[in-house]
Amino acid sequence: CGIFGYVTTRAVCAGTVVDALRKLEYRGYDSWGVGIGINGHISVVKRAGRIPATTPDLPASSIAFGHTRWATHGGVTDVNAHPHLDCTGQLAVIHNGIIENFRKLRCELEADGHRFRSDTDSEVFAHLVEQILAASEAQDPETVVRAVQAAFERIEGLNAFIVLHYPTQQLIAVKSISPLVIGIGSTGTYVASDAVALVGLAEQVHYLGDDEVAAIRADGLHLYDRSRRAAREPRWQALALK
Ligand code: GLU
Repeated sequence: CGIFGYVTTRAVCAGTVVDALRKLEYRGYDSWGVGIGINGHISVVKRAGRIPATTPDLPASSIAFGHTRWATHGGVTDVNAHPHLDCTGQLAVIHNGIIENFRKLRCELEADGHRFRSDTDSEVFAHLVEQILAASEAQDPETVVRAVQAAFERIEGLNAFIVLHYPTQQLIAVKSISPLVIGIGSTGTYVASDAVALVGLAEQVHYLGDDEVAAIRADGLHLYDRSRRAAREPRWQALALK
């Protein structure tokens, strides 16, 4: 499974996401999907099957992300492909890994009125962040970062998540074990599950630590200490393929 996302200073064709996902193809996958922040909501295109050989005609946007899925929970269907939206459609999630306690969380969230569309463990994370956010007063960017941190603390397993939050125009990345690399280039800031997807886009990269949360915004990378919730300095290094 592969992950790729960007926040750019000028809108670029969201087909960039599909091209980057194709570079991660060697990891093996059964579905693909893209989420694009545009016109007041998140537009989702997702399909079971292989990435099309030609880049699909997707709109231009300054925030987008995508995923190639290797199904573990829920069949290989269009609906189960990532991204997964929350109930408001203002927040979307892509996920690598397995949420070990997803059944219990899903029951709690459904009892709280959350309607699920897919059979995946991954969708739980979208609704969990939504529930935590609904309980907070303001929706400033850092409030959303804290909600993602709080949601991540409630899930069990080895996981990587990227949240696209439309109202605050940011991608938030958090993970345990699964690799995530953030790259900064002249046109924007990028995140991927492997540096190979960042070649030609980023010159400097930061490998996200398990003790960190990353917020990618139009003005670049904001890094936080996951437990202390304080800002941190990225450890930039030149992009070099290992
Ligand atoms: N467990 C998730 C699913 O089955 C994510 C799988 C993956 O890592 O691609 O949808």
